[in-house]
This record gives sequence, C-alpha cells and structure tokens, in this order.
Amino acid sequence: MRAIGIDIGGTKIAGAVVDELGHIIAHDRRPTSASEPQVIEDTVVEMVKHLSQGEEIAAVGVAAAGFIDASQSVVYYAPNINWREEPFREKLEKRLDLPIIIENDANAAGWAEFRFGAGRLVSDMVILTIGTGVGGAIVSGDRLFRGGFGAGAELGHLRVVPNGLPCGCGAHGCIEQYGSGRALLRMANELADAGGIGQVLASVRSRNGVLTGQDISELVSIGDPGALSALRTLGTWLGQACASLAAVLDPQLFVIGGGVAQSGDVLLDPIRLAFLEALPARGYHPEPEFRIAELVNDAGVVGAADLARRYAETI
Ligand SMILES: [Zn+2]
Repeated sequence: MRAIGIDIGGTKIAGAVVDELGHIIAHDRRPTSASEPQVIEDTVVEMVKHLSQGEEIAAVGVAAAGFIDASQSVVYYAPNINWREEPFREKLEKRLDLPIIIENDANAAGWAEFRFGAGRLVSDMVILTIGTGVGGAIVSGDRLFRGGFGAGAELGHLRVVPNGLPCGCGAHGCIEQYGSGRALLRMANELADAGGIGQVLASVRSRNGVLTGQDISELVSIGDPGALSALRTLGTWLGQACASLAAVLDPQLFVIGGGVAQSGDVLLDPIRLAFLEALPARGYHPEPEFRIAELVNDAGVVGAADLARRYAETI
C-alpha cells in the first residue's frame, strides 16, 4: 500500500505519494505561511486530497519541526510555526478519512535513512544531520527512539563543553555550537583573522565580504590548509559527541548527513579518529561504522509516509 508523506518546513510544504520501497510516485510542493496555522492546516488537507486522487492510500504522515507528544498527535511546540499544544492530528482526522500520524521532521528523515538509505542493513543507528544547526535521530532495535514524552533525540543539544558557548536552546556548550555549519563558519573566520594557514580564507572573505559554506567546501576540495583545519576541528567535536552517544546507545552505525557531509571522508576521517580516542573502554567496545547519508532530498516525506504506512498496519 502507498502512503502520503507531508513535510512542513519553514518556507514550504512538501508532499508525496510514496510506495513500500520508499519510491516517490507523485509529489507536490507549496509555499508555507508560517504565521497562520489555519492556512497550514488547509494547505495540508488540499495537498492530501490532491495527491490521493486515483490512488489507494493507507495513511498520511506529517513531519514538522518541534516537540510532538508520544502518541504522535499533539505538537507541544514548533519553532517555525505559531503552534502551542496544537492538536494537529485530531484536526486533520476530522477533515480526512485516513489514519494520520504527526512526527518530528528530523525523526522522519532519520527513519527514511534507516529504512531506505545508509542504515538499511543495521538494527541500531544514530544519524547526525549537519546543517545550519545539528539535528538527528536515533533508531534502536529497529524502532525510532522518541523518549517518554516524545521530545527525545534532540542530538544537537548534547552538551560537550560545560559552561561552553551559549546555545539557542538556552543552555551552554551544546554540540550544535561546535559541530554545526554555523560553527564551521565561526572557526573559518577565526582562522582567517589569525593569518597563517587562514590566509586564503581571509582573502576569499575580503573579496566576497563574507565567508559562506560554499566557499569553505570549495577550498576544502582544493586542499586549502585553513579550510581543511576548520573542517577537521568540526569533525573532532562531532567524533567526541559520537563517543558519548556510543557509550549510551551502542549503535552499529553512525550516519552523517546535511550539507557539510558532502565533504565525505575529509569530514569522516577526523570524526572516526576523535571517536576512537574518546570511546570509553576502547579496544573492548565493538566499533561502529561511520557513513555519509545516502538520501539527500525528500527524506522527510519518505520517512513520514513509511512511518504512517507502518502505523496503519497496526490498527
Ligand atoms: Zn542547545
């Protein structure tokens, strides 16, 4: 049976009909009006009706950023949308005659990677998505880990430095401040300020006004020592965070996704190195693999659809 996945982002809503193998059969995409919850609800209903024309649909999975309760019904809080204690599932069920689940967007994308991407051969996996911030998801024993309240697996807020840099979440020293795309830019700017191996970074910055992620990945690809150093520092922080995660979760695989992961082994090598140095009981602890995410686009809709289809099989 096919299912529909909907991914509500900050600027657009993506939707797709997805088959049991994770293939997208049809898709739809519309701009989001983040400040108007009623418009979002109406848009999601319209998209589901449009996508289900001529299709037999088992269920609908809706992915959104935020804290979703453990029964996958109520959005406690969403950073991009004006939702507080929003009973979104109930509202959709009143208007659509289909089983519906609501899922955190990082969890949905991580689930897609587990089912159809780099994690398809393991039972326990942690994915870290390195974008502007750090997101992620945990799969343990073939199941998505959500926590007791549904607000678990906020991997970007794992603390790596006591009393470290302030984080948007209100805490200090979260991995998001040391292992994200924004952190990479901060490190590259610090190297540019310092001169030495940062000379090329400084000259690109003075030519363009600012350094961008694209500048750094281009410099990494031609082996610039400054850009490589910034990326290695980022990888070292991420590797240390992975060691703490391994001590708790013991996954067979870590998957690294997001824009920064396009650097491939240049990022994975320092992650592996720092991981092994920081791994508790090193030498006795079986070593997990590190791989780059395989699903780049549409992971959110594919994961949400698959979770919804599996949910429909249980009712
Ligand atoms: Zn934080």
